[in-house]
Amino acid sequence: MKTAIYPGSFDPITKGHLNIIERAAKIFDVVVVCVMVNSDKKNPLFSLEERLHLINKVVGELPNVRVETFSGLLAEYAKRHEPAVIVKGLRAVSDFESEFQMALINRKINPNLDTFFLTASEQYTYLSSSVVKELARYGADLSGLLPEQIVDDVLEKTRNRG
Ligand code: ADP
Repeated sequence: MKTAIYPGSFDPITKGHLNIIERAAKIFDVVVVCVMVNSDKKNPLFSLEERLHLINKVVGELPNVRVETFSGLLAEYAKRHEPAVIVKGLRAVSDFESEFQMALINRKINPNLDTFFLTASEQYTYLSSSVVKELARYGADLSGLLPEQIVDDVLEKTRNRG
């Protein structure tokens, strides 16, 4: 059974993320969306538990997609799911540089571990969780950017943050 691990911070999950998950779910037997505790991204909008809940709301209908969380090294986490690959989405050359480096480091730690890159769908190339959070602060229409099940959660959370 081939497992794909799709790691990220998903603060919150966007239509760009969902697009990658749906495409990966057609290629691999199981996709594990892994919400990583990322020390670089301080002060997230949603807690880890809230992000898990939002992702579950969105991927609940996809039979071969699971959601987990992990706070250690991705390469170590992948060993639990062997044989597994990491799936990443590439939006632009700027993504490529850091992702290429991460892929090489992960394989150095775990020589069995490969990374598969899916190019972002054209309509989501500009889309990131940070863009969504910025637009939400100004009350913009988020329906083209977020899965519809979570639009209200994001707007409400943003309002409560002030
Ligand atoms: P962000 O970069 O938005 O903070 P994450 O850290 O959660 O998002 O990203 C997890 C993975 O999803 C990364 O591989 C990232 O390149 C990819 N990704 C994020 N947004 C998109 C998108 N709009 N289209 C395709 N891939 C994306």
